Amino acid sequence: MKTLFVTSEIAPWVKTGGLGDVAGALPQALRQAGCDLRVLAPRYPALQKAFPNAEHLAHLPSLGGQLPAADLYAAQHADGLPFLLLDCPQLFDRPGNPYLGPEGIDWLDNHLRFGLLSRVAARLAGDATPLDWRPDILHCHDWQTALAPYYLRFYEKGGAASVLTIHNLAFQGIFPPQVLDELGLLASDWHIDGVEYYSQLSFLKAGLRHADRLTTVSPTYAREIQTTAEGMGLSGLLRSRAAELTGILNGIDTTIWNPASDSHLAATYDREHLDAKRKNKAALQRQFGLPERSDCPLFAVVSRLTSQKGLDLVAAAGDLLAALPAQLVVLGNGDKTLEAAFRKLAERHPQHIAVTIGFDEALAHHIEAGADCFLMPSRFEPCGLNQMYSLAYGTPPLVRATGGLADTVIDADSGALGNGFVFSETTPAALMHTVRRAAEAWRDPKRWRQLQMAAMAGDYSWRVPAARYLDLYRTLQRQ
Ligand code: ADP
Repeated sequence: MKTLFVTSEIAPWVKTGGLGDVAGALPQALRQAGCDLRVLAPRYPALQKAFPNAEHLAHLPSLGGQLPAADLYAAQHADGLPFLLLDCPQLFDRPGNPYLGPEGIDWLDNHLRFGLLSRVAARLAGDATPLDWRPDILHCHDWQTALAPYYLRFYEKGGAASVLTIHNLAFQGIFPPQVLDELGLLASDWHIDGVEYYSQLSFLKAGLRHADRLTTVSPTYAREIQTTAEGMGLSGLLRSRAAELTGILNGIDTTIWNPASDSHLAATYDREHLDAKRKNKAALQRQFGLPERSDCPLFAVVSRLTSQKGLDLVAAAGDLLAALPAQLVVLGNGDKTLEAAFRKLAERHPQHIAVTIGFDEALAHHIEAGADCFLMPSRFEPCGLNQMYSLAYGTPPLVRATGGLADTVIDADSGALGNGFVFSETTPAALMHTVRRAAEAWRDPKRWRQLQMAAMAGDYSWRVPAARYLDLYRTLQRQ
């Protein structure tokens, strides 16, 4: 089984969220399960630096429109995973976030950058590939690579079967009609079964319509996106493809997210040595400049600050939370109004609330280990990784019942399997009611320990999800 896994981000080098984590771990899990897999990604500066000895493989002349010529480099990760790096300095030799310029605004040529990635992926998956390795499966991720199944179907001969995984339906890669020519697409592609979406061009829609199989990252999200309320304007199309749409829950990279071996922590620990978690709490309080209290629960947030994540509910409940008494640490960046709201809360409650605005991988590990309870009141959540990191770190998550959160967190009040706290209504009052429930449970050490043990007993690794992806690939291979 040969698979080309094409992605616009890959941890630990280029990551803005869950897609980066998934691309950093799933390919290796698939390889371990027997798949001959190569990862295709743009040769960003971080990947040039990571693989300084990458070897030139092929030159690709322009594949149409204003898509520039490019080169392919081969590299191999220390763990054996082979990479194909798409080199096109005019599009990819830019530092920092893969989608945004220094002002925090989308690069104006993102359609060309990810159009090229998609076009090259299709070329490598078809009969005209310049490589002597042609995949059976082309596995694409999110809008950034969603034009690849379209190009493969209409602009290449023969070729692989395609799978498109939706990590977040909210990002659809929508551009004005003028980019059609630039992407090497024809006027005849401009129709409702082509790339047109309400008079705009949508990368994601074209992929959703033309990939052979669709997956998304949790079973609940797979159902939710077929409803008008959660389908972001694409529910009809998704319903029409229900037979080809599967939800496969993400795993986590247990080599990186493992409290027993995590080098970022003040003290490592496992289920049998949970007392060591206290040292991490004290270290975290010090790091955030909060009093080192062991007599009140420490809640935490690590997140993109966007309305998707429901953190406006946390900001609105902040005064009440501080008064419980409880402490709260927040690590995140994004929406400027939310950043300001959290800064103000921290100013009002310096003994109870502390905030770091930014993206800090090491601090995210400290928080998972040092907090008592992790908050994820998301309005929608395709899968969510942080609640699984929290479960693995014995930090029961408090979540809203949506998407992957509903598939991974079981409420403490629902029996012995309880591993966290779940609420439904999207209001600060409902959140606060659940925060109080969690604080109460925390005050009962035996009960809390039981929750932590249940949380840490789960298997959150990629082993099972990788096997499910392989099963899916096999159904396609037989066609
Ligand atoms: P999403 O992909 O919607 O942002 P996920 O929960 O699937 O949400 O994945 C988010 C990933 O990004 C996690 O690995 C999380 O730890 C990380 N992350 C988000 N914000 C930050 C931040 N400010 N600093 C460090 N890591 C962050």
